[in-house]
Amino acid sequence: MKREPQPNDLRERWSGGLRATDAGATTRVAGWVHRRRDHGGLIFIDLRDRSGIVQLVFHPDGCPAEVFAAAERLRSEHVLTASGEIAMRDAENVNPNLPTGEIELRVREMTVLAEAVTPPFPVDEDDLEVDETIRLEHRAVDLRRAPMQRTLELRHRVVKTIRDTLDDEDFLEVETPILTRSTPEGARDFLVPSRLQAGSWYALPQSPQLFKQLLMVAGYERYFQIARCFRDEDLRGFRQPEFTQLDLEMAFVGEEDVIGVMERVMTAVFEAAGFDAPAAPWPRMPYAEAMLRYGNDKPDTRFGMEIADVGPLLDGSDFKVFQGVIDGGGAVRAFNAGPQGAALSRSELDGLNEVVQRHGARAAAPIPVEEGGLWGSNLAKFFSEDQQRAVSEAVGAAAGDLLLFVADKEPVACAAIGALRLELGERFGLIPEGRHDLLWIVDWPMFEATGDSVNPWTAIHHPFTAPLGDLDGDPGAVGSRAYDLVLDGVEIGGGSIRIHDPAVQQQILALLGIDAAEAEARFGFLLRALDQGAPPHGGIAMGIDRIVAILAGRQSIRDVIAFPKTASGGDPLTGAPAPVDPPQLAELFVASTAPAPTE
Ligand code: ASP
Repeated sequence: MKREPQPNDLRERWSGGLRATDAGATTRVAGWVHRRRDHGGLIFIDLRDRSGIVQLVFHPDGCPAEVFAAAERLRSEHVLTASGEIAMRDAENVNPNLPTGEIELRVREMTVLAEAVTPPFPVDEDDLEVDETIRLEHRAVDLRRAPMQRTLELRHRVVKTIRDTLDDEDFLEVETPILTRSTPEGARDFLVPSRLQAGSWYALPQSPQLFKQLLMVAGYERYFQIARCFRDEDLRGFRQPEFTQLDLEMAFVGEEDVIGVMERVMTAVFEAAGFDAPAAPWPRMPYAEAMLRYGNDKPDTRFGMEIADVGPLLDGSDFKVFQGVIDGGGAVRAFNAGPQGAALSRSELDGLNEVVQRHGARAAAPIPVEEGGLWGSNLAKFFSEDQQRAVSEAVGAAAGDLLLFVADKEPVACAAIGALRLELGERFGLIPEGRHDLLWIVDWPMFEATGDSVNPWTAIHHPFTAPLGDLDGDPGAVGSRAYDLVLDGVEIGGGSIRIHDPAVQQQILALLGIDAAEAEARFGFLLRALDQGAPPHGGIAMGIDRIVAILAGRQSIRDVIAFPKTASGGDPLTGAPAPVDPPQLAELFVASTAPAPTE
């Protein structure tokens, strides 16, 4: 705590701030019973408040009988206020692990302010083995635990550092609406029915994208917001239906300006969090290189096992599976899984097929390498010795290593082998402890093929990203002025320079299958704003939950959000989402087709 509280009749000092230098003084503290011990007629209470813990001692001769009697009835998590003398502990009772460990408060007066039922799980255990749903259901108790308090303090520090740094750089924090229209960030919208306009719906923002662009047109030049975003997606560890972004936009800038600001902000954040990140400027990797070498647009570069495109080296072999893929325009990718790969059992190797199958590939082909880079597999006979050696060399494999291959349509082979690399990197423990890698992924394509004949293209970032190249040519060849920031294999942010020319914006929307009428209906407000003198502009959004989770060493962003949802989107605390009464639906002009809830 930065300063002592304003004293009142409940508390004069923070518990965690009391020190040996305070010995002899009288004070009053308040908080929760963290632990209690009875010792030879004395009652010891570890009293916890947000600042820490102090030991209270109740001596039968040191306080009125009714206070001692009340102390005997204290149980875990009861709430009290107590006053007494701060005294040095006897030498044998000093606790060097506690900042207040040299002293104790000898209680003269104590009032129980609230009693607590037995907590659903212990508050004083840092490594709690309790089902997460139970923790979420009793979140008020869970949040009392020291690890949760530390993460939320860290989160506060991160956000404060962001605000301070951006304020120093002349950014203005502006709020944008939560009840709004759909923004196309590629996810499903959460919708809110309008009572005042029958049959109409608000969408919760997937991001403040269009509003921040309007703020640039409006001349605000440097905007940011700690913005809540809503996306109705299937959830995983690093996803929540509502999450928080640092959203930022600047006018009269190019890529270097946005990247520069973000490197300064993130460097300050890493410093504030005591996180040992490499010094900026961070390396940049073109998207195509990331996809090839790591099979991923958020590559984890903390370990090797890099992927090589071995199709060109294997063209013309007698192995029908690979040759068929090559002839069909697909890709054969491989990496060297090393001696650890070679040590995998038959059933472990079979298990790897499941990893690649999740990405649509059929199988991973393992081939052991022998002397001279030649292959020790019954598949070897299908390939020339030159081919075998060339592949072994391309992935840096020597005798005793294992090669893993995936052959499929290019995007499938890429994703499947990328997933395999990550799986084995983790399984083999290849990620060095304490190492952190940051890199920008740049030179993105603008569009991605959907495989759909009516709408063949979708925007890789979003449709407001400025394109690079000929919009009248092959959309697949158009680049974009986008950039993503990747930390330890996790995308922690992304943004772009935007389109500020309304004609270009119309053209991009048309390429995405959004005709003029639909464009007007959905984005007319943006198009009209772009007609009114729009400066060149660009920005970025950073995932605050993800960043804090990584800084705190947590696997799940649920641990850095005070009141998160579970993987099925539910909130065990409040019971949301919950059915509503038919009259409430009727007022909103909504009829439910959902089956009646089963109790
Ligand atoms: N609005 C984008 C997103 O939420 C970020 C950006 O382009 O600034 O992903």
